[in-house]
Amino acid sequence: MPNPLISDRELAFLLDEVLDLHAVLAWPAFAEHDRASVEAYLDACRRLAREALWPSYRAIDAEPPVFRDGRVHVHPRLSELWPKLRELGIIGATRPVAVGGQALPLTVSLAAQLYLMAGNLSAYGYAGLTSGAGHLVEVFGSAELRARYLPQMYEGRWTGTMALTEPHAGSSLADLTTVAVPAGDHYLLTGAKIFISGGDHDLAENIVHMVLARIVGAPPGVRGISLFLVPARRPEGDRLVPNDVRVTGLIHKIGWRGIPSLALSFGDEGDCRGWLVGEPHRGLTYMFQMMNEARIMIGANGVATASVGYHESLAYARERPQGRPADARADATRPQIPIIEHADVRRMLLRQKAIVEGGLGLVLHAARLADASEHAPTAEEQARARRQLDLLTPIVKTFPAERGFEANALALQIHGGYGYSSEYVPEALLRDQKLNTIHEGTSGIQGLDLLGRKAMAEGGLALRELIADVEAVCARAATAGVDEAWAAALREASATVGGLTAALGARGLGGDVAGMLLHSADYLELCSIWVIGWQWLAQAAVARAALAAGRGEARGDAGFYEGKLAAAQYWLRTELPRIPHLAALCRDAEDSYARMRPDWF
Ligand SMILES: Cc1cc2nc3c(=O)[nH]c(=O)nc-3n(C[C@H](O)[C@H](O)[C@H](O)COP(=O)(O)OP(=O)(O)OC[C@H]3O[C@@H](n4cnc5c(N)ncnc54)[C@H](O)[C@@H]3O)c2cc1C
Repeated sequence: MPNPLISDRELAFLLDEVLDLHAVLAWPAFAEHDRASVEAYLDACRRLAREALWPSYRAIDAEPPVFRDGRVHVHPRLSELWPKLRELGIIGATRPVAVGGQALPLTVSLAAQLYLMAGNLSAYGYAGLTSGAGHLVEVFGSAELRARYLPQMYEGRWTGTMALTEPHAGSSLADLTTVAVPAGDHYLLTGAKIFISGGDHDLAENIVHMVLARIVGAPPGVRGISLFLVPARRPEGDRLVPNDVRVTGLIHKIGWRGIPSLALSFGDEGDCRGWLVGEPHRGLTYMFQMMNEARIMIGANGVATASVGYHESLAYARERPQGRPADARADATRPQIPIIEHADVRRMLLRQKAIVEGGLGLVLHAARLADASEHAPTAEEQARARRQLDLLTPIVKTFPAERGFEANALALQIHGGYGYSSEYVPEALLRDQKLNTIHEGTSGIQGLDLLGRKAMAEGGLALRELIADVEAVCARAATAGVDEAWAAALREASATVGGLTAALGARGLGGDVAGMLLHSADYLELCSIWVIGWQWLAQAAVARAALAAGRGEARGDAGFYEGKLAAAQYWLRTELPRIPHLAALCRDAEDSYARMRPDWF
C-alpha cells in the first residue's frame, strides 16, 4: 500500500472527536463553510500530496537547485507542481474573501497543509513563505502596497520571503546591520542577508522580500529595526525592472532540497528600493506575526515529516520477515515472522505513534487557538486563546522538531541496514527533519523564550490557565472511565510544573537570571512531556468513551481506539516519570556545564 503520509482516520478523529471542529465552523467568520466543504478541500490537498508531491519527492531531493547565469534554477518537476499548489488556493486559504482568500479556519487549513508538507516539505515551503509574507503586507502595509502586491502574492504569481538573518546576526537579530536611507516615497537599502529561503528561483514572475533593516540613525538593538517590502523586481508602470537584489551564494543544504536558501546582497549599485511597512522601528514586532505563524508551521513540518517516516516503517515492519518469536528462537523449522511481531520493533513503532499523534493533536490544537484568538464569540475567549497560543508556541515549534527527529531515526532503525542506504526514504526524511530544530529560532532559543518570557508573562497567568485546561481533561478522562492512575500522574506533573515555574521565577526576580535560565532546555523538555501527556489523556478519554458506547465496533475500527489507549498509556507511563528528574535539574541548578570553562574542553 502506498504511504498515506498522514492517516485520514487520524485526522478525522482529531478534528471531529477531539477538537470539535463543528463548534469552530459555527463561528460567524466561517459561515461560508460546513463540514462537507471542508472535507472537499482536505480531499483536494491530500490527493495532490499523494498523487503528485510524494511521487516526485525523491527526484527533487536528488537534484537540488543550481545557480547558473546569475539566476537560481530549481528542479523542473517543481514547475509542474507549483501551479497545482497555487490552484488549491492554499496561500490565502485563511484570509478573507475580500482579499482573495477562502476564509477557512486555520484548523482546517493546517490540517490540509499537513498532507502537502508530508508530500514534500520544500515544495510546500514556497506557499508557506508567501502566505506569511502576504499576511504581513495585508495587516501592516499601506493601502498602496496592499493594492500593488497582495493580489499577486495570494495568487502565487509572485512569491514571498522573510529576510531576517545576516551572517553575523542569526539568533541575535538585535545585531542586524542592513541599512535603509530615506529617498522620497521609498528607502534605499544596503546590506547582506543569508539563508534566505526561496530568495530566488524560476517558478514565479517576481519575489517579494520582507526585509528587516535599520533606518539610518535608528537606535541600536531591536528597538531600531524596521520592516521593508523589497521586491526582486520593482513595478514601474506596467513593467517589472530589476531592483538591485543580487544572489551572492547558494547554500548546499543537506535537506529541504526543493527550495533554495541563499545569500543575498541588497543595493550593491545603490538602487535597491524598499517600502516601509507600518511604522518606523516597529519592524520586529510586526515580523513576530510572521515568525509566530512560521513557528506553528515548523511544528507542523516536524510532525508531518515524522508521520511519513512512521507510516513507511510501519509498512516495512509488517512485511519484513526476520527471526522467530522469543520463545522459539532456536527452532529454524518454523517460518520467520514479520519484524512487527518482535516486541522491540513494536516499541519503536509505538514511540513513533505517540510522538506523531501526540504532536498532531498539539499542532492542530494550536491552530484552533489561533482561530479562537480572532473569531471566538467573546473578547475574553479571544484574549485567553491568544495567551494560550503565546505560551504554547515554543513547545509547538520544538517538540515535533526534536522528537520528530528521534521518530525519523526510529523509522530508519526499523529498516535495519536498508535504512542506512539512500535506496530507502527514511534517511532523506531525517535530513529534512533536522532543519526544524534550527530555523525560526533554534530549540535553545525556544527554551529561553518559554521560561524567560512566556511562562512568566502576566505573573504566570497563561500557565495557570493551561493547568486549568489540563485539569478539565483529567476530569473528562475520569468521566469516560480512563484508568485513574493516568490522570493522577498528569495532575502530579501539573503541580510540579506550577511549583517549579514559581521557584524559577522567584530566582530570576531575586537577581539570579542566569541561574533561573540555566536548565531552560530541560524546562522546555519537561513542559513538552507534560503538554503531550495532556494531549494523550484527551485522546484517551475520547477513545475510552467511544469504545464504551460501542462506536468502534459499529464502525468496525475498535482497533483504532484500542491503539489510542495503548499509545496514551505508553506516553503517560514511560514519559511522565521523567518530569521530576528534569525538574530537579532545574531546581537544583545542576552546574556541570555552568562551571565548565571554555578552555577545559
Ligand atoms: C536551510 C535554512 C533555511 C533558512 N531560511 C531562512 C529564511 O528564509 N529567512 C531567514 O531570515 N533566515 C533563515 N534561516 C536562518 C535561521 O533562522 C538561522 O540559521 C537560525 O536563526 C540560527 O542562526 P545562526 O545560524 O546564525 O546560528 P547562531 O545564532 O550562531 O546559533 C548557533 C548555536 O548557538 C546557540 N545560541 C545562539 N545564541 C544563543 C543564546 N543567546 N543563548 C543560547 N544559545 C544560543 C543556538 O541555539 C545554536 O545552537 C535559515 C536557515 C537554514 C539553515
